[in-house]
Amino acid sequence: MHVRKPTIGLAAVLTVTFSLMGGQAVAAPSATAPSEVADSAVAARVFTYDASGSAEFKSAVDRGAAIWNESVDAVELRPAATGQRANIRVLADNGWPRALPTTLGNGTVYIGRQAVDQGYNTIRISAHELGHILGLPDRKPGPCSSLMSGSTAGIACTNPYPDTVEKAEVEDNFSSALTRTGGAVRSGVVIVD
Ligand SMILES: [Zn+2]
Repeated sequence: MHVRKPTIGLAAVLTVTFSLMGGQAVAAPSATAPSEVADSAVAARVFTYDASGSAEFKSAVDRGAAIWNESVDAVELRPAATGQRANIRVLADNGWPRALPTTLGNGTVYIGRQAVDQGYNTIRISAHELGHILGLPDRKPGPCSSLMSGSTAGIACTNPYPDTVEKAEVEDNFSSALTRTGGAVRSGVVIVD
């Protein structure tokens, strides 16, 4: 009996805590991030990205990551803390934009100045390359409404948002990833554009 008493006490405390949380969730519909995650059927998997090597494209990369966070529930891209090893490295260079996915949600992205100099939109490029890291292949040629149509949509296309199919594919990649490793995209292969 002396052993069981503390257990009952703990259970009572947990019940009270749970009730308070439930009441708070109802009273505050404009919930903070953790509550939003808790509301989802599957909690978002967090992947960090390091844009410190992306030079003049850093704000475009941040926007591209934020667009994915707005677009899907299954994954959240978060800036890595200083000195933290990130899941995704984002670099600027003078080549064509490309991605090197390693495993789903991990890899390296290059924001290539060659395309930027030709007039392609930097936020669309950033979101597109991050899309490869999230397991999406290119869809070319394709319309501007498709993020993964990439450069085939032309330089006039500034749409940085994935379409319905692309969003669903990322959601599926990360829910399927609970039971397997690797994404829809082959790992260790550079995807140019
Ligand atoms: Zn591509």
